[in-house]
Amino acid sequence: MNKDKAIILEHYQQIKENIARFSKDYGRTPPDLMPDLMVVTKTIDAESIRVLLEAGHRLFGENRVQEAMEKYPALRNDYPDLELHLIGPLQSNKLNQAITLFDGIQTLDRASLFDKMMALDPSKAKALKSLYIQVNIGCEDQKAGIALDEADDFIEQVKQSGLPLSGLMCIPPQGFAAAPYFALLQQIARKHQLPCLSMGMSGDYEFAIAQGATLIRIGSALFGARTP
Ligand SMILES: *Cc1c(COP(=O)(O)O)cnc(C)c1O
Repeated sequence: MNKDKAIILEHYQQIKENIARFSKDYGRTPPDLMPDLMVVTKTIDAESIRVLLEAGHRLFGENRVQEAMEKYPALRNDYPDLELHLIGPLQSNKLNQAITLFDGIQTLDRASLFDKMMALDPSKAKALKSLYIQVNIGCEDQKAGIALDEADDFIEQVKQSGLPLSGLMCIPPQGFAAAPYFALLQQIARKHQLPCLSMGMSGDYEFAIAQGATLIRIGSALFGARTP
């Protein structure tokens, strides 16, 4: 086994152990026992992704439609049960492509994208397994996500639309403690009785698990720092 492969597998085991430990420490009980681990593979080559597929991992996230197009059809050919979510911004003109490529979309972040989804061929929209609304939890100008003061109305509208809404997703502001933002997202999800919370990345997943994350998204803790 080459060295890079061994390191990825070592990190993977470590993160799985951490998830189990944090879940226990923070008193997670069934059915919320442990969050799912999503492996984020932006900038990561297919060979490294295969290391985890061979180890039995199936849930992956990518930020860009184009990059996912280049890597995932071949991987899915070999591992038909892999599950891939889009976790980066989605341009409306790529929606059709995204819907055929991804099993889940976590970045429904604006009314115009919702309108486009509603206008889709219903058989296509049904192929989507899960949908998350991204909330701009830190009210940051430059960040994607539905604004906090519009979130309640938007969530209800999507809930009633018949689209397969699973829950909420957020990326907290950099440079601040993440826990209060995770707590706020949990509070909004509870208010709307949404079961899923996609939150927590390499640097803060402990706090996301403490606040009820059902899915954490991990990249650099597995593969090392990304070269931009
Ligand atoms: C890159 C990215 C991640 C993973 O971030 P790491 O800090 O590398 O774990 C998670 N979620 C989203 C939306 C991302 O863009």
